[in-house]
Amino acid sequence: MLLEKNLIGGTWTGGSDTLEIRNPSNLDEVVGTYGMATAADVNAAFAAARRAQPAWRGATIEQRSMALDAISRMIFEQKDRLAEIMAREGGKTIPDALGEVVRAGHIARFFAGEALRIPGEKMGSVRPGVDVEITREPVGVVGLITPWNFPIAVSLWKISPALAFGNAIVWKPSEKTPGISAAIAEIVAASGVPAGVFNMVIGRGPEVGAAVVEGADAVSFTGSAATGRRIAVRCAERMVRCQLEMGGKNPLVVLDDADLDLAADLAVNGAYFQAGQRCTASSRLIVTSGIHDAFAKAVATRLEKVRIGPALDKETQVGPVIDESQFEKNLKYVEIGKQENARLASGGNPLQLSTRGWFLAPTLFADTTNTMQINREEIFGPFASIIRVADYDEALAVANDTEYGLSAGIVTTSMKYARHFQANVQAGMTMLNLPTAGVDYHTPFGGRKMSSYGPREQGRYAVEFYTMVKTSYLAA
Ligand code: NAP
Repeated sequence: MLLEKNLIGGTWTGGSDTLEIRNPSNLDEVVGTYGMATAADVNAAFAAARRAQPAWRGATIEQRSMALDAISRMIFEQKDRLAEIMAREGGKTIPDALGEVVRAGHIARFFAGEALRIPGEKMGSVRPGVDVEITREPVGVVGLITPWNFPIAVSLWKISPALAFGNAIVWKPSEKTPGISAAIAEIVAASGVPAGVFNMVIGRGPEVGAAVVEGADAVSFTGSAATGRRIAVRCAERMVRCQLEMGGKNPLVVLDDADLDLAADLAVNGAYFQAGQRCTASSRLIVTSGIHDAFAKAVATRLEKVRIGPALDKETQVGPVIDESQFEKNLKYVEIGKQENARLASGGNPLQLSTRGWFLAPTLFADTTNTMQINREEIFGPFASIIRVADYDEALAVANDTEYGLSAGIVTTSMKYARHFQANVQAGMTMLNLPTAGVDYHTPFGGRKMSSYGPREQGRYAVEFYTMVKTSYLAA
């Protein structure tokens, strides 16, 4: 069935090309065939957005709040349907997909409140008889580019503040998850947001994504560092603002005084759940020598028991990876790890299950060093490595020796080391006795170094990107 699911100026349209999506848990099942937008469609979307934005900017804050409230309500009402779409086309297990859908509903609800609380300031002037007002205005038409791994949460954490603060949107989701993107667009279209304010174009990054970057007044992007860098360069040339959330090579430090079971549970959760396809995944397990051997054994034992299977199966804890290219990339890194003389402590092999899918055994390398390629590059799969260190000081140095800086965790019972780590690790988010992955929806999200660029996303910090400040001087 061909689904014509690009939304441009309030009209659903097809495209010049089509894209077939297969279930990564069962490659014999075609989930849908989608019409792909072109650069010309993106231009039409921008034209519609520019026509619609002034009225949306002029809408009352209550109208904008009510629209976000409606989006949130529909997401909660349709949560089972939305989670099933995500499991079928993206391979996310039902509990993980449901968790993400509910989170997206909360994000929209949070910004329904923020729409009513757009901050401003009134100040005195150094000149007599003059007042100063500092107000915030929408940026205009924002371009949103999102990845496949959190297709509803990441999308809603951009769409919601953009709408709350009066912007129009041209959104390009990942072409790998068009079904959930179309479902989100249906919800926004039914929420009371006027036609043209919200537009969605599904298409390939180099054509459709690049056209979004060309047309927008501001670009918010989540995806790989390589694409992010290209977008930042183009935004600088165009002198428009950009916000980039990119990859990670997140450390989980385990100290000798850690609770062993907790440490092993956190490592398995953070590194392998959601098939490791999380920008905040714990990919480098940095372990002090006193607990190292027991920890390596405890993680490997747990991995033997992890239930890998089709995403829609109730028993499944870890589903397939998203597609063939990700699958091949993971296997390539298994080979690289072996060539680097890392010890394969678990997994590393494709799994043949009752259905044909992109299933990989969770992979653990031990006896690795931080200079190995498997510890330098983001792998984005069910894959982690253990790095042995002598003590806390070396653990911190290794944790910081990376070009990324998204999330960093430590497992310890020592307040002294916990506080020192929190203050000195070079990451945007730190976790004490928690997995590196898993964040709240009302707090700022983002990293340092190659992980993020520009203002923070989420929570009250989102206003920085989605509004422009105006300073007005008023004489009586
Ligand atoms: P990606 O290849 O960079 O793609 C991200 C988005 O950019 C997709 O919509 C993609 O479209 C589009 N795109 C590709 N080339 C483009 C171009 N030249 N111009 C404009 N847009 C372009 O990343 P991905 O593989 O989808 O996602 C995985 C990455 O996202 C990982 O590195 C992960 O760490 C990161 N991530 C980061 C966060 C965070 O908040 N830090 C959250 C989730 C994921 P196509 O799909 O059509 O190629």
